[in-house]
Amino acid sequence: MKKPKILLTLLIISLLLPLSIVAHQPTTTSSFANSPTDLEQASAKLAGSILVNGQSMKYLQTLTDRFGARLTSTKAYQRSAEWAAEEFRAMGLKNVRLEKFTMDGWERAVSARARMISPIEHPIILHSMGWTPSTPPNGVKGDVVLLKDFSVDKIKAQADNFKGKILLIDPATIFAEGRLNALMKASDAYMALKEIGAQAVLIPDQYENNIVKARKASLGTKVTALPIAALGSEDNQLIRRSLEKGTVTIEFHYENRTPGEVQVDNVIAEIPGREKPNEWILIGAHLDSWDFGTGAQDNGSGSATVLEVARAISSLGQAPRRTIRFALWGGEEQGLLGSKAYIEAHKSDMDKCIAILNTDNGAGHPNGWKVQGRNDVYEAMKPISNMLKNLNGDTLSYEVSFNTDHAYFILEGVPTLDLLVDMTHYDDVHHKSSDTIDKVNAHSLATATVIVAITGYNLAEQPQSLAPRLGHDAIEEILKKANLLDFLKKSGDWK
Ligand SMILES: [Zn+2]
Repeated sequence: MKKPKILLTLLIISLLLPLSIVAHQPTTTSSFANSPTDLEQASAKLAGSILVNGQSMKYLQTLTDRFGARLTSTKAYQRSAEWAAEEFRAMGLKNVRLEKFTMDGWERAVSARARMISPIEHPIILHSMGWTPSTPPNGVKGDVVLLKDFSVDKIKAQADNFKGKILLIDPATIFAEGRLNALMKASDAYMALKEIGAQAVLIPDQYENNIVKARKASLGTKVTALPIAALGSEDNQLIRRSLEKGTVTIEFHYENRTPGEVQVDNVIAEIPGREKPNEWILIGAHLDSWDFGTGAQDNGSGSATVLEVARAISSLGQAPRRTIRFALWGGEEQGLLGSKAYIEAHKSDMDKCIAILNTDNGAGHPNGWKVQGRNDVYEAMKPISNMLKNLNGDTLSYEVSFNTDHAYFILEGVPTLDLLVDMTHYDDVHHKSSDTIDKVNAHSLATATVIVAITGYNLAEQPQSLAPRLGHDAIEEILKKANLLDFLKKSGDWK
């Protein structure tokens, strides 16, 4: 019998409270955040939660210092994926799961030791490239010969010259038409070199102080036919100068683990929508990194952003209208493998996708979003972007980028946003041993997180959906304008 009295009291109290406070009490009705004012107030709450006592740097430190480098297919990657799933669960997210895909595994086991034997004795800096085999147990020892062309016919024509040799790539000719074009021919070239009895291949890097980037030597994740190492720039120049005077002999040794096909986990979690749970937006970043450094910029910062956005939105205490899915991908560095596998596994769900948000462009200041060539997305994003003005985060760029995990979603025609970041210093540490947490500015990371949170929340909450799913011809038009069509047809990704 006391209930009516309590209800009446609550009603009186709520009438006395300022409207803004009442509007954000947890409620099961659909009146929440219907108006632009409500969306703004919820956005302000999200920003406050991230900027004041937010967790993004804490997540980043755990990812980088506790798990270290998170190379896909290694135990460190797996441990970080399981930890992230636990974090999502602890936040109260639903449908937290590890979704598996398969790829060939690879891991550095014994680091490289290398030296020039002749014309002088001199230590040299080189490292195995990813997804290439170990040297033989006693290492590689031989004379260095320049390789100027990846064409299989030209390699076969030089069989006598190359047999038993270590081939040093001449970037001026081999990469003349871009690295990607060369890599498309690389696997066949390595196979031809193996067949004629060459020992190994060296690919010089171009960074000062003999700094070498971690990367693969070909496309795909099949381990290459013979050992391939990245060579420091100054040591490459020493070898090249010495070759002009006569024979150069070097030796090196390293060991890699190549376990064959392994299963890798994407981490997926959800805040189910309160009104339209079947419609979804996805906020994602790749969790994996290369194995030099600890993947702080690339992409611990993006992963920390996804975790912090999930924490902030779930702590609002009110699910948005539509479902928000959070994704931490594996295998990005080996060819966007995790996000690609996710699309394959969820093809039938793509019609209900409202938008994909991706963050993987480093730890510089965030400026807004790349709308991937779509005018309708550009226009529809303006009201959300306006909210980000005071963060200098309101830039919308038409740029189409096919280099991180939103890429294959473009081919699905769903609206796709990639975080636009100041990349002035990106290459300073990209895939290098210097990609560590000290390079990440807490303010930039928190700002990026606010931009992603506000954008994601508004897209999930606002009454209208962002933009339609495009059909084949409209997608092809975007790819053509972005000069991507030929490449994607050649790679078999677009028909
Ligand atoms: Zn990345």
